[in-house]
Amino acid sequence: MRFYQIPKWFRTLYPGAIWDFFLDQKPTLYLTFDDGPNPNTTPFILDLLNQYDAKATFFCLGKNVKEFPALFERIRTNGHAIGNHGMLHLDGYKTTTEAYIRNASEAAGYIPSSLYRPAYGRIKKSQYTALKKQGFQPVFWSLLTYDFDAAFPSEKRLALIRKKTKAGTILVFHDSEKAFPQLKKELPVLLEEWKRMGYTFVAI
Ligand SMILES: [Zn+2]
Repeated sequence: MRFYQIPKWFRTLYPGAIWDFFLDQKPTLYLTFDDGPNPNTTPFILDLLNQYDAKATFFCLGKNVKEFPALFERIRTNGHAIGNHGMLHLDGYKTTTEAYIRNASEAAGYIPSSLYRPAYGRIKKSQYTALKKQGFQPVFWSLLTYDFDAAFPSEKRLALIRKKTKAGTILVFHDSEKAFPQLKKELPVLLEEWKRMGYTFVAI
């Protein structure tokens, strides 16, 4: 079962989180890339975004920023926003609140941003509240692209993304090797279409 969009009842559990920018007056899209930086994928994404004068938001893993600091800097100098995705990719439902907060705080030592995206979107209420108290701004999404799912046919995914994307949508893509075979084919197609439709691409 795929959940491209987060159900409304789920949203009510997390007051003050960012889900979309549907009230935008201009035709903007908010592309986000999770799990990087990665030397095998980030340079491609940055070059492609540059071609479209697109700004995006990269929710990075602290461990990857620690390993590839120059690549992280390159994301920033390209004018993109950065966000915290945890030091490790922890599932909040399977982690104590204390360990969860420690994981986010440790990553904050490498990622200077208050934006925080929970890995898998799985975060307990207690973890959410504690994060907010520490000044983090949680950011979920309005559309998960499932770019990491190689078993899902490309044309079907593209059709779904086209159907569900509108002005103000926050889309999740992945700056990861698992998603890359799909992403490198599909993202250029989407960017070209969206550009023709008059969209601009903005960082959060
Ligand atoms: Zn992730």
